[in-house]
Amino acid sequence: MSTTLGVLGGGQLGNYFVLAAKKLGFRTAVLDPDPYAPAGAHADTHIVAQYDNVQALTELARICSAVTIEFENLPVSSLEFLSQFVEVYPSPSSVAVAQNRRDEKRFCESIGLLVAPYEVLETPEDAERISRLGVTRMPLQPLSAPLLMKTSRLGYDGKGQQKITKLTDISALWHNVNNVPCVVEQVVPLDAEFSIVLARSRTGEVAVFTPTHNVHVDGILDVSTATTALAAIDVEFFRTGELIAIRIAEKLAYVGVLSVEFFLSGNKLFVNELAPRPHNSGHWTIDAATTSQFEQQVRTLVGMPLGDATMTYGAVALVNLLGDLWRNGEPRFQVAEEDASSHLHLYGKAEARPRRKMGHITVTGTDALSVTRHAIDLRTKITR
Ligand code: AMP
Repeated sequence: MSTTLGVLGGGQLGNYFVLAAKKLGFRTAVLDPDPYAPAGAHADTHIVAQYDNVQALTELARICSAVTIEFENLPVSSLEFLSQFVEVYPSPSSVAVAQNRRDEKRFCESIGLLVAPYEVLETPEDAERISRLGVTRMPLQPLSAPLLMKTSRLGYDGKGQQKITKLTDISALWHNVNNVPCVVEQVVPLDAEFSIVLARSRTGEVAVFTPTHNVHVDGILDVSTATTALAAIDVEFFRTGELIAIRIAEKLAYVGVLSVEFFLSGNKLFVNELAPRPHNSGHWTIDAATTSQFEQQVRTLVGMPLGDATMTYGAVALVNLLGDLWRNGEPRFQVAEEDASSHLHLYGKAEARPRRKMGHITVTGTDALSVTRHAIDLRTKITR
C-alpha cells in the first residue's frame, strides 16, 4: 500500500494539500473536528476529533508516515507528540514561533530584521506604561496613535485586532479581549504589501515563488497579483524580501512551505507576519506555476526534490470570494466558468458567512494591470 500523509486541519488549505498529495500518488489522512471540513471529502481518512485528542493523534501517527499542518493555530504539544512517532514538518518549534506575534517579532529582530515598532502588552504595568509613555525600550521610538492592538495568538484575517486612536484607551480596549497577551503595533503608512512564498527541503534546497503584491480590505486579503515583468523599483524590494524570507527559513532550519508577509513603507521593508504553510496569496501557483505551493508542501514533507517554482504566465491575479458575496443568493459562477482566462475555485464550504473565504478566481495573462482588472471585474459580474 502506498504511503499515507497526514494533515492537521481540513479547510481549503488542507484540501489543496490532499489533492496535491493524491496527484503524486500518496494516500492522505486529515484530522479536523469539523465533520464537514472540505478536505474530509477528498482524503482517504478523516479523523473527526479535536487537535489535542491523544487517541486521535495516536491513530493519525499509526496510519501516516509524515504529518503537516494547514494552519499555525494548533497546539504545539500535539505536533511534539506526533513527532515522537512520525516526521512532522514544519517542526513544532518553527510553528511555535509563527503562532505567537510576540515571539515572531522577537525572532525577526534577533536576526536583524525590521518589524513595525511595537510593544508587548501582557501586564497591567505594560498597559499603564504604554498609555503614559508610548514606549520606553531601546531604540527609543515612541509609539503614537494610531496603533493596532493585536492578540498575540489566534489572530488571522484581522481577527483579534483593534485600532487604538488614543493611547489612554489602551486599558479599556485590552479589557475587550479579556486581557490576553497582545502586541501594540504602530500603524505604518503602507506604500505596498507583498508576500514571499518559498519551499525549503530537508537538505536546505530553497525554491522561491514569484513575489505577490497584495491588497487587503478590512484585514482580509482581497486581491493578489504576480508578474514576471517588474519595474526596477519593485525588483529591488522584492529581491530584498526574497533574501529576508530565505534568511528566516535558514535561521529556523525550516522544512516545508513558508510564507512571509511584508509591508513596504517609504524605503523600509517591515516583516509583518510569518505563516508556516502555503498562503492565500500563493493560490495562484495552482494555475500559473510549474509546481504549486501545495505540491511543494508534499515534496518537502516526504523528502522529494523540490519542484520548479517558475511562473507559467507573464501575469496572474487572484480575487478572493468571501461569504458576503452570497448575500443576495448564489453568485453567477457561470460567468467565470465561461471565461477562458479565468479559473474558478470553490472550497466546498456549506455555509456562506460574511468574511468567510468561500473560494477565489484566478486570471492568467501577460500584463499585471489587465489581469488584475479582469479578475476584479469578473467578481463584480458574478455578484447578484
Ligand atoms: P495582519 O493580520 O497582522 O496580517 O493584519 C492584516 C492587515 O491589516 C495587514 O495585511 C495590513 O493591511 C493591515 N495592518 C496590520 N498591521 C498593520 C500596521 N502595523 N500598519 C499598517 N497596516 C497594518
